[in-house]
Amino acid sequence: MSTKAYAARAADSPLSPFSLSRRDPLPNDVLIDILYCGVCHSDLHQVRNEWHNTVYPCVPGHEILGRVSKVGKDVKKFKEGDLAAVGCMVDSCRTCPSCKAGLEQFCETGGTVFTYNGPDKHLGGVTFGGYSENVVVDEAFALKVSDKVKDLAAAAPLLCAGITTYSPLKHWKVGPGQTVGIVGLGGLGHMGVKFAHAFGAHVVLFTTSPGKAEDAKRLGADEVVVSKDPDAMAARARSFDFILDCVSAQHDVNAYLNLLKLDGTLTLVGAPENPLPVAAFNLILPRRNFAGSAIGGIPETQEMLDFCAERGIGCDVELINIQDVETAYDRLLKSDVRYRFVIDMASLKN
Ligand code: NAP
Ligand code: ZN
Ligand code: ZN
Repeated sequence: MSTKAYAARAADSPLSPFSLSRRDPLPNDVLIDILYCGVCHSDLHQVRNEWHNTVYPCVPGHEILGRVSKVGKDVKKFKEGDLAAVGCMVDSCRTCPSCKAGLEQFCETGGTVFTYNGPDKHLGGVTFGGYSENVVVDEAFALKVSDKVKDLAAAAPLLCAGITTYSPLKHWKVGPGQTVGIVGLGGLGHMGVKFAHAFGAHVVLFTTSPGKAEDAKRLGADEVVVSKDPDAMAARARSFDFILDCVSAQHDVNAYLNLLKLDGTLTLVGAPENPLPVAAFNLILPRRNFAGSAIGGIPETQEMLDFCAERGIGCDVELINIQDVETAYDRLLKSDVRYRFVIDMASLKN
C-alpha cells in the first residue's frame, strides 16, 4: 500500500513529501487513517540525528490519532469507523517479564519497536511514523479513544506528552500534601502541570520564559519560578518532594537537585543530546534520588487516555499544516511553543 508522508532525507535537510509502503493488514492489524499527529521534540532530535542512530529517510510522528478504516479478521478491540490512537511503540517481544507486566517500553529482549526509526520486521528497513496518511499496527499496540473526546486534535499529544508525564507522576505517587516541580513549559511540561494539579499536588512550574507564567497558572500551576533568577531558586532549597525535568536542551540539573528535600526525587524525562553532569554532594546530602522514566506501557497509556476523557483533559495545541513543520521545529528550538504543535493531516492532500 502506497502512503503519502513527509520525511527527512538527512540530518541537515528539511522534511519534504515522501511516499512509503504500509503492509496490508494482517489478521491482528488495524489500518488507521490519521487525522492528527502531534509534533514532539523527540521528532526533532531524531530527524536531526541528535541521538546518533537515525536511519534516513526518516518519517517521524508518534502522537497519532485517527479512524480505523480496515480491520484484520482476528481483530477484537476495533471495528471500522472507530477512533484509534498510536503512541511511541508498535510492537515488543510480548513474552519477557516487562512486556508481561505491561511495560513494553522496557522490553528486556530489546524488542521494543518504536513507531519510527525502529526495525520493521514485516517489510524490512525501519518503521515510519505518523507524519503520514495512515498507519498499520497490531491492535495490541493501538489505543481506544472514547467517543466522549470532542477535541481530537487536543487528544493526539496525549500519546506521548501525556503518558510521558502521567506515568512518572503515578509511579512516584505524586498527590495531596506534596510540593512538586515541573521544569520547562513545553509539550511535556504543560501536561506535567495539568496532571500534577489533577493529582492534588502543590505545583511549581520552573521556566526560562517569564512570558509563560500566566499560562502556567491557567494550566494548573500554583506558583511559577523563573529559573534564571538565582535568588528565587535559592529560596526554594530543600522544599520539593518530587521534580519532573521536561527540558529538551542542555541545562544544569544540580540547580534542581538542590531543591529536593531528604529522599526527594528528580526524574528526568527530557532527553538532550549530551550528558548532564551531576555533582556528587547534590545527591549524597541529603540522600536524594536522580531517576529517569520513558513514556508508559500500553495498559497505562489506555488508563491515561480514559482518565483524560473522563475529566475533559486535553493538550493546549496549535494546529498546523504539514507544510509548516519546519517552522514549528524552529519555534520549538526557541521554546516558542504553546504548548504542542499538532499537524492537521488533511493538509497532506494540499
Ligand atoms: P518542547 O515542547 O520543545 O519543550 C521543551 C521546554 O524545555 C521548552 O519549552 C522550554 O521551556 C524548556 N527549555 C528549552 N531549552 C531550554 C534550555 N536551554 N534550558 C532550560 N530550559 C529549556 O519539548 P517536548 O516535546 O516537551 O520534549 C521535551 C524533552 O523530552 C525532549 O528532549 C524530548 O525528546 C523528551 N521526551 C522524552 C520522552 C521520554 O519517554 N522520556 C518522551 C517524549 C519526549 P521554558 O520555556 O518553560 O523554559
Ligand atoms: Zn514524543
Ligand atoms: Zn519484552
